[in-house]
Amino acid sequence: MAKVISSNLGYPRIGKQREWKKALDKFWNGKISEKDLLEETKTVRLEGLRKQKEKEIDLIPVGDFTLYDHVLDTAVMFGVIPERFQTDCTGTSLETYFSIARGTQNAVASEMTKWFNTNYHYIVPEFNESKPSLKENRPLDFYNEAKEELGIEGKPVLLGPITFIKLGKGYEEVEFPTLVEEFLPLYIDVLTELKEAGVKWIQIDEPIFSTALTKEDIVQAEYVYESFAKVIPEVNIIIQTYFESVDSYEKIVNLPAAAIGLDFVHGNSLEQLNKHGFPKDKKLAAGIIDGRNVWRQDLNHQIDLLESIAEIVDKENIIVQPSCSLIHVPVTTESEKALDLVIKEALSFADEKLDEISILARGLERGKESVLLEIRESTNAIEVLNHSDYRQQIVKNPAGSLSTERELVFKERIALQKERLQLPLLPTTTIGSLPQTAEVRRERLKWRKGEITDQAYEEYIKNEIKKWIDIQEEIGLDVLVHGEFERTDMVEYFGEKLNGFLVTQFGWVQSYGSRCVRPPIIFGDVTFDRPMTVKESVYAQSLTQKKVKGMLTGPVTILNWSFVRDDISRFDVLDQIAVALRFEIEELEKNGIKIIQVDEPALREGLPLKSENWDQYLNRAVHAFKLATASVQNSTQIHTHMCYSDFQDIFETISALDADVISIENSRSHGELISTFKENTYDKEIGLGVYDIHSPRVPTKEEIKANVNRALQIIPSSQFWINPDCGLKTRQETETIAALQNMTEAAKELRKAQ
Ligand code: GLN
Ligand code: ZN
Repeated sequence: MAKVISSNLGYPRIGKQREWKKALDKFWNGKISEKDLLEETKTVRLEGLRKQKEKEIDLIPVGDFTLYDHVLDTAVMFGVIPERFQTDCTGTSLETYFSIARGTQNAVASEMTKWFNTNYHYIVPEFNESKPSLKENRPLDFYNEAKEELGIEGKPVLLGPITFIKLGKGYEEVEFPTLVEEFLPLYIDVLTELKEAGVKWIQIDEPIFSTALTKEDIVQAEYVYESFAKVIPEVNIIIQTYFESVDSYEKIVNLPAAAIGLDFVHGNSLEQLNKHGFPKDKKLAAGIIDGRNVWRQDLNHQIDLLESIAEIVDKENIIVQPSCSLIHVPVTTESEKALDLVIKEALSFADEKLDEISILARGLERGKESVLLEIRESTNAIEVLNHSDYRQQIVKNPAGSLSTERELVFKERIALQKERLQLPLLPTTTIGSLPQTAEVRRERLKWRKGEITDQAYEEYIKNEIKKWIDIQEEIGLDVLVHGEFERTDMVEYFGEKLNGFLVTQFGWVQSYGSRCVRPPIIFGDVTFDRPMTVKESVYAQSLTQKKVKGMLTGPVTILNWSFVRDDISRFDVLDQIAVALRFEIEELEKNGIKIIQVDEPALREGLPLKSENWDQYLNRAVHAFKLATASVQNSTQIHTHMCYSDFQDIFETISALDADVISIENSRSHGELISTFKENTYDKEIGLGVYDIHSPRVPTKEEIKANVNRALQIIPSSQFWINPDCGLKTRQETETIAALQNMTEAAKELRKAQ
């Protein structure tokens, strides 16, 4: 019987209890030495390797580990270090490494951005300066370590040259081939050393192949992989893609390599395979366990999927693996002690996914009968949850006949709102959150631990609200906020209160650097249970004659920042969330709140990788937003907020949301956002952030005025609002007060000048 190989693409770095994160934080705070950091993180790394060995994974990735980010690792390995860090850092190489990621007194950190369509952020390589050269061979070091310490014959993982260069900046498109030419010999050195060390398999990640490629990109890809094949023909290279099916299927699968890794969970790889076949001389590394979600997979179904792949590719040429690295899911469900077993049994985090991989590889090798017991166990767990009260699908068509249109069109309702709200020209407001001091967080922790009563905690929050209503009045803002002191996180807060969500104890995943997030898990039908924000908003409103904005997280953002059940479509879940929020908005309105903001900062990042899927996503996003907000009276004003400035490609969507007022981050866009408005007319009200909230720096009145004046050349003052870029949660109190004071002063002077 031919052996079916099982493989993994990457294992969580953070440790079962976030030991990795804790070690990093301690090191940065000067509490432990570099040696301690390296030791503690090595323990975490070896633990992960041991786990994978225990789960009988044949090809265990090594070198996927990092102390911050794997893209940064690749850059530093090739000596891609921005000039400003070469002069500033005199210390160890680790110091330089962290400086690039985190910045220093004298040098700003490199830019950080999202890794494809995930919530992981990588450090953007800067290619504009010195020539690259090989500084170390990380994959080799990790390969040797795994072999020496644990006797594991690992599979080194590298970020491929096409993806690496494409993700970097500091060059023009036409220079791409030159950069490839520069990096190619360095990659070849790394690969040659790996070969000499006896490495048999190498995984080269090229997720960029799942996006739209130009002809030139493909030419370069062919050139690179032909060169690799020439120098190390005896090593099995796996060209690994993920997050979607590949764009130029025939070109990609014919690249010279021992194996091609394709994602069979997202996109249409199976269709492509059936249509175009697969080269006989290659292995197909089939990603069939979802590395992006937390649910156990129906193994029966997945074996069938493998069997259909096996109709085209011989079994011994199939490698069974997850769809992508497991860094996007938490470590293990074992740590979750408080979960309802009905739910827990249906969950699968990284360790459990490895079990699923092993079972599937065995099942494919020996036939379905050999793993019947395991299959039954998995289908059972899924069935039990599907038939539980949690998933009654009472809300299968949650939108039903609910209207998604406001009664009056914008032009007519804004007149009613203006009359009711009586705001001055160029009204001032903030985005919602106000400084969450250490004390606020301490009080919440005490309350969570049961050290203070619900009542005491509530009193504490009320005092904060009162304090800040007074401050905002003093400053002279026009539309006030309650400050969001009761929220740790804008999605988790709602996840804890809506039906159908759960918040785990240890379900952390890395977001960027040592920062981990714990996305809520949507396990059942999402429904409104009880008012979530009414108490705080109403209390704040009772303290002032000014208008207080109600503050909610929008349906798309809640969806995109959660793990979502996979038994019904994401869009149905989205509608369920929207309907639940609609109830909340109606409650706020009933209780006298006249302005309600529904934040959608994650709307744009949810855009599918493939542009042909954009329309559907954007239409459903608009539908959900309107489903949540359309039922309010004409005179109730709906705001929304987004914090990104590359706006051009979703401009129509933003307008279609039909929000009365939108506030957008602007300061870091270098005028790009304003030019978007030059090219498109926007007829609703808008606040382009007038100062950057990411820095403690207090903006001067003059600079705020200049920012507003620049915008007013394009947008009529009758439509314009004055607000900061985003929430003020991470800022200090004194700097916030000073900045907002300058902002309201600027507004006063600007009004006079109109
Ligand atoms: N209302 C939220 C806040 O002010 C918005 C946060 C965001 O846009 N990410 O914190
Ligand atoms: Zn924001």
